[in-house]
Amino acid sequence: MIHLSKLPAEGLKLSGDLALLPLEGEDAVRDMAWSIFILPSSNAGLGDTFFDVKGSGVLDCTCSRCLEPFDLPLAVSSQYLGSKDAELVARGAHALGTQDLDVVFMPEDELDEEALVKEQFQLQVPMHPLCKEDCLGLCPDCGKNWNKGKCSCNPELRAKEPSALAKALGSIKLDFTS
Ligand SMILES: [Zn+2]
Ligand SMILES: [Zn+2]
Repeated sequence: MIHLSKLPAEGLKLSGDLALLPLEGEDAVRDMAWSIFILPSSNAGLGDTFFDVKGSGVLDCTCSRCLEPFDLPLAVSSQYLGSKDAELVARGAHALGTQDLDVVFMPEDELDEEALVKEQFQLQVPMHPLCKEDCLGLCPDCGKNWNKGKCSCNPELRAKEPSALAKALGSIKLDFTS
């Protein structure tokens, strides 16, 4: 546990590693290592705290296009300011030196370091992961993974064939003249 009110003036360094970190849903990060540096800011009366969170790990992923499982390396590098000051949080960002930092509302004095790291990894999980940028996906007709070679379906023939919707629309006669 991190106690924000008891931080040393020179800051607090924490680090650790985990064989497996379960995220929300089915996701999990393997072989992860993290480090956090927490520094109380000069605005101590309000309890502002600078956070620098770094980490790396591997996410077990399923490609959203070809549905193959693959490993996605994840890297976390996040700097932000934690504050009890609702007004500062409402402004959203705070300039510190040359950096514009996001401000995160932290009303509690106690923080769980693993929950904090987990949150940062969670933000790195893509909505639609791809095994590679130019993943070819699956054949919509036979379901073959096109990354592993072509199938015998003829996509050109398919494209020329009117879709079921086009056929249905074609059979409806619209008469706007009457
Ligand atoms: Zn893929
Ligand atoms: Zn096919």
